[in-house]
Amino acid sequence: MAITGYIGGSLVVERLNKSYQVRDSEVAALQDINLSIGEGEFISIVGASGCGKSTLLRIIAGLENGHDGSVKLGDRRIAGPGLDRGMVFQEHRLIPWLTVEQNVAFGLNGLPHGETERLVREHLELVGLSGFAKAHPHQLSGGMAQRVAIARALVNQPKLLLLDEPFGALDALTKIQMQQEILRIWEVEQTTMVLVTHDIDEAIYLGDRVVIMSNRPGTVKRLISVDLPRPRDRSSFEFVQLRREIYAEFFAEAEKPFAYAI
Ligand code: ADP
Ligand code: MG
Repeated sequence: MAITGYIGGSLVVERLNKSYQVRDSEVAALQDINLSIGEGEFISIVGASGCGKSTLLRIIAGLENGHDGSVKLGDRRIAGPGLDRGMVFQEHRLIPWLTVEQNVAFGLNGLPHGETERLVREHLELVGLSGFAKAHPHQLSGGMAQRVAIARALVNQPKLLLLDEPFGALDALTKIQMQQEILRIWEVEQTTMVLVTHDIDEAIYLGDRVVIMSNRPGTVKRLISVDLPRPRDRSSFEFVQLRREIYAEFFAEAEKPFAYAI
């Protein structure tokens, strides 16, 4: 089922710098980030904890200010939050006293009732939760709650979906299921997706390209294209080679490379 109304979005980040004021000093979080993401592309971003991945996503979401450089979605400069961008976090952030359908409808303001109902129904169907419209968040498993969060982020039919370690808190099997789900949704919806993850397998399994960020201040250290057909086989020779390459890159700066641990 393809939901109509999506217009793909290309994202261009140029010369982006971001510092935080911590007590009396400036701490650089991001340094000279340049990144061009094509319409409909799936980009994975990996990097050590604290290297600025969430900061980068929040800037793209329009939730941060006080940075230099430019961030454009299509031909529009991002200067604040907007319905053209959806975001999913590690925690589902659902409102506990609202039902699943009310949570998904939450951000849909000013639409005729019938239209809201249709969009919510279609997006619950998209994430495989049609039967849970009247449930409350506490009745859902972790994976199901994240599906609702994905439906809520997509219900406004954004051009760009930002995913900040969305499966990081899920158990290993649910995580793999959710990776397959997001892949299916991306293929159906053709929304541009930017996924931050600390899971290198997840980055390779999902991404058209993997962005490797350096330690803080975060810069784009390397971009790796994943030219493997989907669905990808995590045990294939090519997949394992890429994993090895990314691990080596990841730990190149560390005193003791962990590359042989894989
Ligand atoms: P990541 O998501 O890669 O773990 P973050 O983007 O959360 O990293 O943080 C990048 C750096 O910026 C970290 O060193 C963090 O401590 C710092 N930082 C993030 N948010 C703030 C803030 N609001 N004030 C001060 N420092 C911050
Ligand atoms: Mg983070």
